[in-house]
Amino acid sequence: MGSERISFDVVVVGAGNAALCAALSAREQGASVVVLEKAPPDEQGGNCPFTGGGFRFVHDGIEDIRHFVPDLTDDEVARTQMAPYTADDFRQHLTTVTHGDVDPELMAALIAESRPTVEWMHSKGVRWELSGRTSAAAGVPSVIPNAVGLNARESGPGLVQMLTKAARQAGITILYGTEMVRLISGEPGVAGVEARDKSESYEIECGAVILACGGFEANASMRAEHIGPGWESAKVRGSRHNTGDGHRAAMDLGAQPFGQWTGCHATPIDIEAPSVGDLRVTDRMPRRSYTLGITVNSAGLRFVDEGEGFAEQTFVKMGQAILEQPGGMAHQIFDSRALPNIEARYGNSKRVEAATTRELAAELGVDQDALEQTVASFNAGAHESEYAQRTLDGLATNALEPPKSNWAIKLDSPPFTAFTVTGGITYTYGGLKIDTHGRVLGADDRPIAGLYAAGEIVGGIFYHNSLRAAGLMHGSVFGKSAGAHAGAAVRRYA
Ligand SMILES: Cc1cc2nc3c(=O)[nH]c(=O)nc-3n(C[C@H](O)[C@H](O)[C@H](O)COP(=O)(O)OP(=O)(O)OC[C@H]3O[C@@H](n4cnc5c(N)ncnc54)[C@H](O)[C@@H]3O)c2cc1C
Repeated sequence: MGSERISFDVVVVGAGNAALCAALSAREQGASVVVLEKAPPDEQGGNCPFTGGGFRFVHDGIEDIRHFVPDLTDDEVARTQMAPYTADDFRQHLTTVTHGDVDPELMAALIAESRPTVEWMHSKGVRWELSGRTSAAAGVPSVIPNAVGLNARESGPGLVQMLTKAARQAGITILYGTEMVRLISGEPGVAGVEARDKSESYEIECGAVILACGGFEANASMRAEHIGPGWESAKVRGSRHNTGDGHRAAMDLGAQPFGQWTGCHATPIDIEAPSVGDLRVTDRMPRRSYTLGITVNSAGLRFVDEGEGFAEQTFVKMGQAILEQPGGMAHQIFDSRALPNIEARYGNSKRVEAATTRELAAELGVDQDALEQTVASFNAGAHESEYAQRTLDGLATNALEPPKSNWAIKLDSPPFTAFTVTGGITYTYGGLKIDTHGRVLGADDRPIAGLYAAGEIVGGIFYHNSLRAAGLMHGSVFGKSAGAHAGAAVRRYA
């Protein structure tokens, strides 16, 4: 960047969804904006490219949503049923998954601003697709679930591309391979950032900084410190660049940590999954058919209720439970009756097959007596039945600890097949406290002048679990709010 004095009205840290919405919104206020992206251009956008690009927002059903998807024909619309997704639906879903811990003010702002933010993104050039397919056959009706109304065209990678194009067109500078190292304090609040590219470190003066640089899921020591022992060995499902830099920089300046720092989204994944996300394979790595069999640790013991609910409701907990086992790994075991029902994405991944559970144990390097005993105890409390995966069948084990609450069907049809799995972390829940303008709050709950945050770095939204397609939505909502407030504030004081 050279040694000249560098100054922008607003510095945005990160170049994912939340960051680019923040940058566009600040620019709209007339501010000069620079975006710092730690990654090279082909890894831009952190976790955003790993998503399907789904957005959860309030809408009035298919007739309402159709204007975001102009290539939908009248005939397709007439054949499509998509119920309205109301503010009450959104509130109820977010409250339920977070066990009521979601911050009420952030939730209210997220819901109220969800639809206007999608409209605004559309006006900036983001193009959309219906999140479900309309039937191609004439006369055949399509029913599309209403919660996730739209997906960005070409998923997460398309979303980053469209927002980047819009940012360039708006005259926003994007510096790749440039990381925010620390925030420079001013009187009061924030006066700039120290940035580092591959050749040097330098300071950028500014009126406001918007931190949108993701969570701390790719930082092993922060995972172990905040989520717990064992988490240092988790594989990272997304970007290697989200290392909690924004959390640390902001807290150095007195920002208030907020939300569930011990919580994260996680899932069982193939033990051979890459150690950080790889767009070519990440989607194929989850291993979520554990409801059909049993899961044992390296000692051959069950440690979790595999049938507590549908996998969609339990995979985060299962991923966590696996990471808490010795070596952070486990084996999912199926018999020949269960095996045909497992998810297609297990594909040809590495498996161990044997005619008896003793032989299986030997192949896996697990104590043979222990595994044999585990399966025998399970079978003693399990049922003779067929798998009905789409219903909670209520077939629970009898007097077994831990129980299997559904699909407890005897594991007695050889051969037996085992897949070795570990836990993959998707993203973290704990972050900074913000107000509904995206201003970062200090310990006294007052805004730190010139400091904003949006996206995964924000705490107080997800607890215990997350809500599909609400992550991108809250990043956009609070990115837009933060950009608008920061842009207006620096213009006022310029
Ligand atoms: C496999 C996977 C699937 C997912 N599926 C969904 C889904 O279906 N729906 C959903 O809503 N969410 C999903 N998520 C979560 C979603 O990715 C996040 O909610 C969203 O991307 C967060 O957006 P963000 O803009 O806050 O952070 P990110 O998109 O992660 O962007 C952070 C940016 O900051 C940059 N950065 C980090 N540190 C620095 C630094 N020091 N200096 C400069 N730049 C820095 C990164 O390189 C990156 O560009 C998924 C995540 C993964 C990994």
